[in-house]
Amino acid sequence: VWITLEGGDGSGKTTQSNLLAEWLEGEGRTVVRTREPGGSEVGQLIRDIVLHHRGDIAPRAEALLYAADRAHHVATVVRPAIERGDIVLQDRYLDSSVAYQGAGRVLDATEVRDLSLWAAEGALPDLTLLLDLDPAAARTRLDADDKPFDRLEAEREEFHGRVRDAYLALALAEPERFLVLDAAERPEAIAERIRARVGALLG
Ligand code: ATP
Ligand code: C5P
Ligand code: MG
Repeated sequence: VWITLEGGDGSGKTTQSNLLAEWLEGEGRTVVRTREPGGSEVGQLIRDIVLHHRGDIAPRAEALLYAADRAHHVATVVRPAIERGDIVLQDRYLDSSVAYQGAGRVLDATEVRDLSLWAAEGALPDLTLLLDLDPAAARTRLDADDKPFDRLEAEREEFHGRVRDAYLALALAEPERFLVLDAAERPEAIAERIRARVGALLG
């Protein structure tokens, strides 16, 4: 079983991943926690490139780097874990690319999605948890953490609004795969909704 967490920066992905992993492990399940970019050793090198050179990578080159990270990650981490019967809990996957490299920047969303699907040999998660949050609220949270909201300062304010809209459009297009969560609720209330859905998925 493969579950991905999506949403803008500071929407609560890591918080919910922690709570869900804790619950699943308490139920006796084996959980593999991973993330993109950077869920493999090679991927960590790619993560360093994309995060340290944001703003000075040509958009298509950036999209290819995320796709390369994804190809290696799915082949060497995700697929083997699923084949072992583990539950994969993954922070960000191809929807991040569509939202950030596609709608967020200048590339065509369908092309970005097709590139990702080629990289991952068509692999799609069983469930995608979308933490939907107003970017202004996310900013307030990350400011409180002393974590810069927009690590690429050149990126415009409206960028995060476009990312949010792109995510919501993806969820509408694939309602079976997505569970959209109001990320402004209390962490425990969100976790409860997630547990109900994941519990049903696991049977
Ligand atoms: P990033 O994109 O930076 O990885 P993220 O989506 O993983 O962010 P978190 O790191 O889980 O988000 O949360 C960002 C901040 O918001 C943290 O300080 C966290 O404690 C807080 N937070 C998480 N969920 C909630 C919530 N439901 N309500 C209020 N604050 C929250
Ligand atoms: O979620 P995480 O903190 O690992 O993401 C690192 C950064 O990379 C975030 O600021 C996110 O906005 C960005 N990112 C991106 N395109 C992706 C995935 C992440 O721009 N496909
Ligand atoms: Mg996080």
